[in-house]
Amino acid sequence: MRVYHNLSSDNTNVNPNVYADGNISLPTQVISPNSTSFGGTTTLQQNQQSFDSIQDVNNNIGMSPVIRNKNTNEEGLVLASKRLWEQNYYLKTSYVPTISGVGRQLYYPSPSPTTQFYSGDSRISDSKQIEFTTRMISQDEYVRDATKLPLGMTIQPFVDLIPALNPAETTVPLTPGIPPLRCKRCRTYVNPFFKFNRDGSVTCNICKVKNQISDPQMEFHFNSGNASMSSSLYPQLYKGTVDFIVPETYNINKGNSSVPLHYLFLIDTSIISKGNVMTSFLNAAKETIEKLCIEQPNCKIGIIAFDLSLRFFNLSSNLGSPSEYIVNDLKEPFLPILDGLFVNPVESKKIILLTFERINELIEQSMFGNHPRNVYGSALMAAKLAYKTVTKGEGGKIICYLSSKPTYGEGNLSLTKDDNQKTSLRCDNQFFLKIGNELLANQISIDLYLFNNKFHDMSNICYPVRRTNGNVHYYPDFNFQEDLQTLKNDMLNDISKLVGYQGLLKVRCSEGLSVGKYYIHDGSTKEPMFGCLTKDTNLDIQLKYDDKIKPGSDVFFQVALLYTDLNGIRKVRTLNSKVTVANTLSNSFNYSNEHVILRIMLKDVIFKYLSNWGVNRIKEELDDNLLEIITQYIALISGNNNNTSFTGNSVLNGGGNNTISNGGSSNRLDYKLPRGIQHLLNYILGFEKVESMIFNRQSTRGNQRIATLYDLVSMSSSRLMYKLYPQIIPLHLSMMEEDFEYYDSNEMLIQMNELNIPGMSVSNSGHHITNGGCYLIFDGEVVYLWFNENTNPMLLEDLMGSDGLANVIAKGEFPTNLDTAINKKVQNIIKNWRQTIGRSANLKIKSLRPSVDKYYHSVISHLLVEDRLVEGTFKGPDTLSAYTTEMFASAKRRVSKRDFVKNNKNLNNAHENLHQDYVQF
Ligand SMILES: [Zn+2]
Repeated sequence: MRVYHNLSSDNTNVNPNVYADGNISLPTQVISPNSTSFGGTTTLQQNQQSFDSIQDVNNNIGMSPVIRNKNTNEEGLVLASKRLWEQNYYLKTSYVPTISGVGRQLYYPSPSPTTQFYSGDSRISDSKQIEFTTRMISQDEYVRDATKLPLGMTIQPFVDLIPALNPAETTVPLTPGIPPLRCKRCRTYVNPFFKFNRDGSVTCNICKVKNQISDPQMEFHFNSGNASMSSSLYPQLYKGTVDFIVPETYNINKGNSSVPLHYLFLIDTSIISKGNVMTSFLNAAKETIEKLCIEQPNCKIGIIAFDLSLRFFNLSSNLGSPSEYIVNDLKEPFLPILDGLFVNPVESKKIILLTFERINELIEQSMFGNHPRNVYGSALMAAKLAYKTVTKGEGGKIICYLSSKPTYGEGNLSLTKDDNQKTSLRCDNQFFLKIGNELLANQISIDLYLFNNKFHDMSNICYPVRRTNGNVHYYPDFNFQEDLQTLKNDMLNDISKLVGYQGLLKVRCSEGLSVGKYYIHDGSTKEPMFGCLTKDTNLDIQLKYDDKIKPGSDVFFQVALLYTDLNGIRKVRTLNSKVTVANTLSNSFNYSNEHVILRIMLKDVIFKYLSNWGVNRIKEELDDNLLEIITQYIALISGNNNNTSFTGNSVLNGGGNNTISNGGSSNRLDYKLPRGIQHLLNYILGFEKVESMIFNRQSTRGNQRIATLYDLVSMSSSRLMYKLYPQIIPLHLSMMEEDFEYYDSNEMLIQMNELNIPGMSVSNSGHHITNGGCYLIFDGEVVYLWFNENTNPMLLEDLMGSDGLANVIAKGEFPTNLDTAINKKVQNIIKNWRQTIGRSANLKIKSLRPSVDKYYHSVISHLLVEDRLVEGTFKGPDTLSAYTTEMFASAKRRVSKRDFVKNNKNLNNAHENLHQDYVQF
């Protein structure tokens, strides 16, 4: 293998911070607004221009907290370091989410969604599938209110697991005539925490009621006392997650077999669609059909086109060419055909592909009549009717291409415009509210592909997508060369991620708690429906207390998801988990999980944004919620602390040779939050900088604002964390042989030499972007490659090959045939990111060069979330250090005024043990 760190001494264009072979050396200086020289090199001033752009972005005050900690205790680490430490920790340790001996055993907080790990207790569903705001809940609402931490859970029933969930090992077959064993009282499905009694009965873990066993086989095995044999025969007794195959009485049309998944391509053929974009969409659609023929050969396909009329296509395999039927009744569309409306893709592949070609041809020849307008609303009505008639209400997936907002037919939005008159992102069009509900009621889910940056009124046109848990894909500046592959990957990825349809979810839990709110649709307590289910399907749930729960006891949860798999088999997936009731307030804090807390906090404000709140009110609410948590923590847990002078500079460097040009040099944060919620501030600040939260005087309903918000609503946990705090990997620093190599034979866990973690931890601030460096940055969607003109050209060549960047841009990926160490490591890093977010298609690679890439400023300002944002304004502080300082200062002021929740008997009792308990921890 070639080694890229091969710098010749006479190469004066190369910055000395780009390292030669050998030991790790850390940057001696970082770019900061106050730096007038750079590492003593002569190249800086010559190239000052090149990183002015960074400084523009980072015209901030104070410092970002930087911690160079050389021990393995991750407490107190900045987020960039924590991610790497945590991943290393879980190389050799599997995660056991259950807690026994409350507060007595060393407990490592739940792994972050960005960490890959093996789960250590099969009786409990993997914490990627079901995780709580805390594994130690408070005993009642009074104590919970004293923490101000929300109580809830995040469910991702089909998320990729390590190792992959094996269907053969986790499917409970259907015994004819015998339904799955369930508690007669609360209807909980049998699970590893059901207690089998000697008298042949079983006690339900949720409601504690004794049931007689109805399954003769199971009874036999338990009576015979052969427990190990029973375990191997009954995965429901030892696996937290199983799929029960259920009888036809569980079907939507009771007693009838489920229909296969029906896909409908709904294509806007108005003249605005003409051009590369339509060609690209149809290209992607063709590849999707090819994929479906192989992966879902039993599915059905339909195509409806629309401009000022609706066009139905007969796709019957016995036709030589596509035949079409035009419907002009837009108020009450009817179906001109039934036969050939939905067909099998394998049998009718030829005619389907011909129909796509014909649609393209007709648009190119403007034979659809040059209409710039479309009847999207009426098309949705026609789609609903087609599904209702053909599938008898069993629904399916619509893949819709739309080039502009509808200005004709039902749901006419010709009068809407983007101004600053409406602050909330509420859907305020009655038609779209109604059709959204109707699509969901008919088990239909819609994915929408939107192009160009004209105002689309996405609050309204995308409402049916949000209502039916579909995806919005928005390409504002679609470029045929660069974005065709992205579009294809997005569509193929959506199809690959589908796992089922016709979903209905129910949560059961032990006495004392119940569901307060499902963060879906209108935030109700009604059991959520899912037209389609994917590996990304997720749900956040707020829990509420109905009663006080005894400290030290376990609270059990079972999530039951009724769905039809892609083979048309009706199943119930059950997820089982439990939490323990804390005996001290500090445990509630220490065992908390900031990622779930963050999701609940964000969902709470996002749903207000989607009803009637404006962006400023959202920010104030979020800040206030965070301030309350910090205040309660300081007041009740870490109080009487002598370190009263928190400043943004009071962060450490680890005594190494890296110094911060304008920094202080304390060894730790004077105030810090317990590690369970240590990085809430980072993430919330990151959220306040997403496109949806940027204040804009002229526009409040811009496309990007809504596209981003819809994306955030449906994001899996791992993608959300990368989005709110992108990961930055420096490629110009020396790496050790094992760095970014896979640790396990399954190639799921990526490792690092611990000595190299400090150097590889780059916080998301321009202070830490080194001139002449080379960085890989991932925001949960795109992998950016940052470099500038001072970056070592040999490094870039080793990374991208002799064809270099142009090739990478054209293909959107790094070449895989280079035999260089850095290329291999980068391939691993990208593969690992792809695995972590569970994407089947490749991640897109984009260059990010100051003064070269036109999108540089807007992108970098969203990536460097610790810095001041260039666009938009905030009312409050917007750098991490200023935000942290203000939050802690405000919290302290509240505490000094005794302005916090107190005077509760439970709390007073709990508080006596708090400090000692926490110190031990
Ligand atoms: Zn029960």
